[in-house]
Amino acid sequence: MSASKKTAAADDPKDRFIKIGIIGGGQLARMLALSGHPLGINFVTLEPAADACAAAVAEHVIGDYDDRGKLEEFASKVDVVTYEFENVPAESVKYLSEKKLPVYPPPQALAVSRDRLKEKTLFRELGIPTPNFSAVGNIEDLKTAVETIGLPAVLKSRTLGYDGKGQAVIKSKNEIENAWERVGKVDCILEGFIAFTREISVIAVRSREGEIRYYPVSENTHKNGILHVAIHSPNDPLQSLAEDYGRRLLEHLDYVGVLALELFVVDGATLMANEIAPRVHNTGHWTIEGAATSQFENHIRAVAGLPLGGTTVPNSCAMVNFIGEIPPAASVLEIKGAHFHDYGKFAKSGRKLGHATICRNTRNDVIAGVDEILALSDIS
Ligand code: AMP
Repeated sequence: MSASKKTAAADDPKDRFIKIGIIGGGQLARMLALSGHPLGINFVTLEPAADACAAAVAEHVIGDYDDRGKLEEFASKVDVVTYEFENVPAESVKYLSEKKLPVYPPPQALAVSRDRLKEKTLFRELGIPTPNFSAVGNIEDLKTAVETIGLPAVLKSRTLGYDGKGQAVIKSKNEIENAWERVGKVDCILEGFIAFTREISVIAVRSREGEIRYYPVSENTHKNGILHVAIHSPNDPLQSLAEDYGRRLLEHLDYVGVLALELFVVDGATLMANEIAPRVHNTGHWTIEGAATSQFENHIRAVAGLPLGGTTVPNSCAMVNFIGEIPPAASVLEIKGAHFHDYGKFAKSGRKLGHATICRNTRNDVIAGVDEILALSDIS
């Protein structure tokens, strides 16, 4: 049921609330729930970890994503389902759909985004430039692909890769065997290594009625394959091209919710698609304080069948991830224009524990603010 279809005049306030089920209970689920509570929306997460960080703000069904009993319990509690990661088992989504539960974004977006070969093939079909690529199923395929694609190249597992995991850069032919071992001898794609000048992402949201809104693009830098800093790029010369590529994907997939498209900028003017994420995205965390409506609230609005909110960004802003360690809240909050987010997770090397957003009047001021935040921890 859409939130707008429930009457605002019901006697018991619970009767006018809808419940959104989120598959996954990490920080994205937590921020989705935090953004939906003011709208009178309640949340249930399905997630195997008992100490999942979204459990603080949502009812938590503890169970594996493919556990039929737990899926049934989860399904019985919610009106509509969304998810916070792309590797949701296809069978589970099918099961929920058979229960007549709407699943947004639609299952076809999951199928494309969880398999790099399907994803890159779709980019090509839609006329969206992407690095040259070849499917690789064994070491002989890999040797042939190296001849076709050329070196340097990046070998990536077709599924289950994220934050640079399941990837190996091949610079010379004598690294082929080692790269094949390192990605685990699984189905892969080999793609050309792109000497990009910038990495950007565009985050878009599409409503159930097909209305699309875009946020200003984000300029992103990674460290050890993990997003480190994302800076809002106002009036970016590539904004409209990025939006055009985003629109092609959203319309083709009959998409509902937030979608992130990650792009390489080559020679200042060409965009090449790297990947999509069919969900709220780390490069859009600065929208929480920076935009008229955050990516999280707009995702919830789309999924709940509510009107979308504005995506304008009145100031300049940026986000810094805290990975492996997190500074004290007080030291971040002493910085002018800074906001602090602690996901409430146990510290572990390589784990995203929280982030800071910085909003100031000018881009130069924001960049100075990012440096002040980086100086607080060893992550810089
Ligand atoms: P991915 O998991 O595909 O997003 O890759 C993680 C990061 O590796 C990207 O954000 C880039 O910084 C880098 N990367 C991935 N693919 C390529 C490529 N074809 N050429 C150059 N760098 C890449």
